[in-house]
Amino acid sequence: MVTGKNSHFSCAANFLRGRKCVFCGSFKVCKTGRSYVKCAQCGKAKSLTRLRREIALLRGFYQLQPAYRLAQDLGLDIKVVTRVYQRLREALYHVTELEGGKLKGEIELDEAYFGGRRKGKRGRGAAGKSVVFGLLERDGRVYTQVVESVTAEELMRHIRAKTRKGSVYYTDAFRGYQSLKRYGKHHTVNHSKSLVDRRTKNHINGIEGFWSYAKHILYNYRGVSKYHFPLYLKEIEYRYNHRKENLFKRFIKLYFGYVSP
Ligand SMILES: [Zn+2]
Repeated sequence: MVTGKNSHFSCAANFLRGRKCVFCGSFKVCKTGRSYVKCAQCGKAKSLTRLRREIALLRGFYQLQPAYRLAQDLGLDIKVVTRVYQRLREALYHVTELEGGKLKGEIELDEAYFGGRRKGKRGRGAAGKSVVFGLLERDGRVYTQVVESVTAEELMRHIRAKTRKGSVYYTDAFRGYQSLKRYGKHHTVNHSKSLVDRRTKNHINGIEGFWSYAKHILYNYRGVSKYHFPLYLKEIEYRYNHRKENLFKRFIKLYFGYVSP
């Protein structure tokens, strides 16, 4: 019986049995010698052995398995796993950047600090860390951007580029957001004590939720270098924005370039 999370994997069944073409989605697939399949629609051929291995890799990526552990489980060289992971992350990076227009409606803004040395300054201005500016449309998408600094100019530049003028903004009391009122309606949340502002009931729980989601995923990967961090961040953004869909299916499509008819 296939239930719950397992049903996410059932979309791969027809590919694995050599019934459906992984490149174009056609069912006009026939088996040729040495366990190869060839598609009559797009003309592409594929070894079923390789296909099974690649789908197992995509499944590991979907399940957030660290590359070294997946390599052990599948008996593969870690380089093979890392290459597939890297390729997926690069694809996700570009897709995420291309997706969607400007955020609108009620938008929560916040910055967060990732990685770096554990000791030392925390919060704004912490050394060695990656600084991320996050913009989240309530009941919608999140957009993240690694920033050099959290100056008012830099933040406003991203706000102008990624949100519609006249939106309703929720932020904490950071001074960098002062000029926001000229761009839309601005509510500030004093959340030093509690997450919801007691007086106004304003909150930025949506973006706070995204930061915990991101930290949870990064914890799984056990340390990401500052150099690779932007790639991982976009992967997380993609996962979050499509969290209500079948992500495994999306990864298969992305990897093989198969577009659903
Ligand atoms: Zn095909």
